[in-house]
Amino acid sequence: MVRFTLFGVPVEIQPWFWLGAAMLSGAFSGNPTREEFLLSLLFIIAATISILVHEFGHALVGRRLGGGRANIVLWALGGLAYNEGGRFTRSGRFWMIAAGPGAGFALFALVFLILAVAFGPQDAMVFTAFELFHVRSQGISPRMMDFLTNNFPFMKLTGDFLWINFWWGILNLLPVLPLDGGRITELYVKPQKRVYQIAVVTAAAMVAFALFRGSLYMAFFFGFLAYQNYKEIDTYR
Ligand SMILES: [Zn+2]
Repeated sequence: MVRFTLFGVPVEIQPWFWLGAAMLSGAFSGNPTREEFLLSLLFIIAATISILVHEFGHALVGRRLGGGRANIVLWALGGLAYNEGGRFTRSGRFWMIAAGPGAGFALFALVFLILAVAFGPQDAMVFTAFELFHVRSQGISPRMMDFLTNNFPFMKLTGDFLWINFWWGILNLLPVLPLDGGRITELYVKPQKRVYQIAVVTAAAMVAFALFRGSLYMAFFFGFLAYQNYKEIDTYR
């Protein structure tokens, strides 16, 4: 168990978090070479920092708008920020929830900006497009190509930050509880039963999409959420 306090917010990283992050990093796939192992480690570092930035978005904006004592826990399936004793208006709650993905997208923008300053906007765009969509890197300058080749681990880490903060940010905004998109839906959609129905349909569609893409971890993740939300519909019958 890792514990520390930052900006007055106690943070607890549970052992299961590292297992979840390692699974996502592909560290358990096949028989990794030394280099693949290093790349998995870099992914875990990028994931941990990105999730912390996201949770601090919730915690700090939550403390500002609702008071109370903010806490952050990283566990097997991601992060959790909560304000003990915080009191929120509906719009206060909205901004607290939105601040998590907002912090992630801000980190994405910051990494992009650093790339643009270091290599120029053209190279930054090509590199980012490749990391996000795996489109072929045409038109990359020889200078950046040179830097990429000589500093591969560092650029892999940079790419991980872009990928994680973009894609996880978008997935997290899907209307599926307990994701942030689901929590925002819950603020505006009544009755609560409808929120769970939306979640089940969305999560089931994501399972189909994940299976189509051959992404078993994502299929499992949304399958689990679909089941959780489905169980909740019953309690509102
Ligand atoms: Zn969040």
